[in-house]
Amino acid sequence: MSHPAGVSPDTPDRAARAFVHEFSEGSKEQKRLLGGKGANLAEMTNLGLPVPPGFTISTEACRYYLAEGHEPPGLADEVDRHLARLEAERGKRLGAREDPLLVSVRSGAMYSMPGMMDTVLDIGLHDGSVAGLAAESGDERFAWDSYRRLIQMFGKTVLGIDGGLFDAALDRAKRDRGVRSDLGLGVEDLRELVAEHKAIVRDRSGREFPQDAREQVDMAVRAVFESWNTDRARAYRRQERIPHDLGTAVNVMAMVYGNLGPDSGTGVAFTRDPATGRPGVYGDYLRDAQGEDVVAGIRNTVPLQELEDIDKHSYDELMRIMARLEGHYKDLCDIEFTIERGKLWMLQTRVGKRTAAAAFRMAAQLVDDGVIDLDEALRRVTGAQLAQLMFPQFDRRSGITAFAHGVPASPGAAVGAVVFDSAEAVARDADGERVILVRQETSPDDLPGMLAADGILTSRGGKTSHAAVVARGMGKTCVVGAEDIAIDLERRRFTGPGVEVGEGDVISVDGTTGAVYRGEIAVVPSPVMRDLESGRDGEAGRGAEGAAGGAGEEPGADGESGVVHAVRRLMRHADDVRRLAVHANADTPEDAARARRFGAHGIGLCRTEHMFLGERRRYVEDLILAESQQQRDKALEALLPLQRDDFTGILEAMDGLPVTIRLIDPPLHEFLPDLTGLAVKVAVARERGAPDAGDLRLLQAVRKQHEQNPMLGLRGVRLGLVVPGLVAMQVRAVAEAAVARTRAGGTPRPEIMVPLVGGVEELELLRTEIDAVLADVRAAAGVDVPIAVGTMIELPRAALTAGRIATVAEFFSFGTNDLTQTTWGFSRDDVEGAFFPAYLDKGVFTVSPFEALDEEGVGRLIEIAVAEGRAARPGLVIGVCGEHGGDPSSVRFFDQAGLDYVSCSPYRVPVARLEAGRSAVTASEGGSDTR
Ligand code: ADP
Ligand code: MG
Ligand code: MG
Repeated sequence: MSHPAGVSPDTPDRAARAFVHEFSEGSKEQKRLLGGKGANLAEMTNLGLPVPPGFTISTEACRYYLAEGHEPPGLADEVDRHLARLEAERGKRLGAREDPLLVSVRSGAMYSMPGMMDTVLDIGLHDGSVAGLAAESGDERFAWDSYRRLIQMFGKTVLGIDGGLFDAALDRAKRDRGVRSDLGLGVEDLRELVAEHKAIVRDRSGREFPQDAREQVDMAVRAVFESWNTDRARAYRRQERIPHDLGTAVNVMAMVYGNLGPDSGTGVAFTRDPATGRPGVYGDYLRDAQGEDVVAGIRNTVPLQELEDIDKHSYDELMRIMARLEGHYKDLCDIEFTIERGKLWMLQTRVGKRTAAAAFRMAAQLVDDGVIDLDEALRRVTGAQLAQLMFPQFDRRSGITAFAHGVPASPGAAVGAVVFDSAEAVARDADGERVILVRQETSPDDLPGMLAADGILTSRGGKTSHAAVVARGMGKTCVVGAEDIAIDLERRRFTGPGVEVGEGDVISVDGTTGAVYRGEIAVVPSPVMRDLESGRDGEAGRGAEGAAGGAGEEPGADGESGVVHAVRRLMRHADDVRRLAVHANADTPEDAARARRFGAHGIGLCRTEHMFLGERRRYVEDLILAESQQQRDKALEALLPLQRDDFTGILEAMDGLPVTIRLIDPPLHEFLPDLTGLAVKVAVARERGAPDAGDLRLLQAVRKQHEQNPMLGLRGVRLGLVVPGLVAMQVRAVAEAAVARTRAGGTPRPEIMVPLVGGVEELELLRTEIDAVLADVRAAAGVDVPIAVGTMIELPRAALTAGRIATVAEFFSFGTNDLTQTTWGFSRDDVEGAFFPAYLDKGVFTVSPFEALDEEGVGRLIEIAVAEGRAARPGLVIGVCGEHGGDPSSVRFFDQAGLDYVSCSPYRVPVARLEAGRSAVTASEGGSDTR
């Protein structure tokens, strides 16, 4: 995605080496070179829409400036030439005393980004030209209003002066005059205000406000370049994973004036409702106003519909243009316009942001309207949006309004009693109470409380704060930075606008919207979730279309059923086009059945360790404590039928589909009592005279099994090699379950997967044992069920020696969680809460490598293992298990790396299906742009 300075795919022909491009020379495809704003201004210009003339200084010029510390040579000449053209076109001269040309200088990067320099309007005004503007427009007030705006904007954004100083001067002027709005200020007031603003500039910047128009332009352009690297811009790019080396473009555009009286004004509009996707007239208009006035809330705007009464001619033209733009972009457009004395001007357009629901609805609707095809529709929705639509929601019929809003950091809907510290959260949770942990910010000390809470609310911090990162990792509902609330820890309460909430009071937190409500709001599963879980959406629902309509769902409607229908439709297409299969991680027959309803085509990871817990723990204890083969066999014999039943149930739920069963993986001490607890128990018994002999032996065993670093200790394949009979028992249970299912008329397809292999020798040894058991069962039953034996690739050594391992393994499955831990050398549980927030802040990562696959490091190991594994064993089936299998951006990587399937938790299966489909339709495009 990144290109070094001076190399841009948009301009293969570098001979011309132009840094400045007329609007009429560009197109919407050139966002990388011209920025989003510039590219779309060019597009509108070429459509023949009324765009004020202007030009764009390219991102290349910015990259040059940032690299070299000065403007590229020749830039000034180019700007001169283009300004001259602009002057000729408008018949006005920049900086002239009479009828001066004024321009705006606007930043505009490839992706729209907060933190970049704000636009400066009315550049070109100075003490000498303000009278000329007044004379030409016949409106002296307008001229002085424009001048005071220029000094204010220029002072703040170009000279870096605290904007509050200018605001205060304006407020003072209004107070002195006894008026509430800026419209109440007269020429004299504005003249005085200009003098005051100039004084502020002089005091704060140590220089006079520049009186040379061309100098104003150059200073503003340079300020735009420099704003690429503000802290806010950098932070935003980190969060959104936007490369730091793109640079921004600068647009210089002739001014049009919305502040020329009541027949002028400025507005914003959408071609559709961005919340629902419904076509219509959506927008706001403000008379006698300029630029940001309309969104700044300085005066009350009117709904766009009212423009029809105010200025029918302009309104009609705007409607025509909006329809034209939608037809042209084939998508929702968002628009800025200005009316100058009854003449409409288009100032900006772009494909508008939308909610997840609107994205799906609109995509499906545009297909219905014949505007786009299904492939394009699929490119326009994301797995992240689908995930959002799957979270439980607050019941919208409650009618309660939120008392505070924060940053939606981790989606979901949580209800619980307010607590202010971790200990209280843990205590109440232990009593079975649902709690919401409310903190100013969280730290690693709050982890137990965060785990115990149903939701987390903080009054500070953004999307990469500790609370946000950890909550997302835990899949816990979280809202951060709710600045409307003030926490009073001493009095155990917090206050918000009009409310006071004490410890124990119930609140509801919406992690999808950032809203916080008082009291309990009922939570309902989302309609999309209900539909997906019904299995009617995709593969499972094929041919059952008639039944699917049973819920009274009208295709194309824009209510809930519209979303459900749209999701179903795009899922079906994703299933049609994707190459990558999607399996699920499921350990129980219930999970397996759910995964199947969600559209999983098999189980990619069936963990067996939970099958040794609860009642069965004592057999594992016996196994560990056994002093003879006989005792050991007894424990294993007790476990065998239980395991066989486990597998029979899962194979039944997944009949006909592959079920990859992983042999026991965690260290055995996880099945033994806790060392400290047991040691205390024995010590107390000793005090009283006689510790239990069993406890003593157990304690000895626990001590012996204790490991400093269990993650890197006796686990995985290593267990199988040193605990005699354990693997044989598991394999026998699998094989006998398969025989039982076959006899019952089923089609079981079990596979046996060996975890944590580092070298081929380990696998060879274990395979000899496994094959012997399989042969034994086969002979005894007289039934042949083919059972493939493969391995996980979850250690760097396994990836690097995959060619040799593939000679023994019949399939590979990447365990990306362990592979990430061992590649980076950190343990997830220990580091994620401890220093990941700091790493994210410092930009070491843009996203946790446990959330999105580290393509550069872990991904490289995967590519090596795929290439060498398949070279050794052509057609080797390769999958991935671990949560990355359900992460939208990782799925694309796995698809492109040539894997056969991804496996993820049942709830992520739909997301993985969608992303696999999107990967298939965007692969040829070299990456899609979903920002
Ligand atoms: P942003 O990226 O923050 O939207 P813009 O560059 O769009 O900033 O400009 C801020 C405001 O000024 C917008 O309302 C825009 O329409 C208005 N504006 C920009 N250039 C001009 C111009 N040449 N004439 C009149 N208004 C302008
Ligand atoms: Mg704008
Ligand atoms: Mg593992």
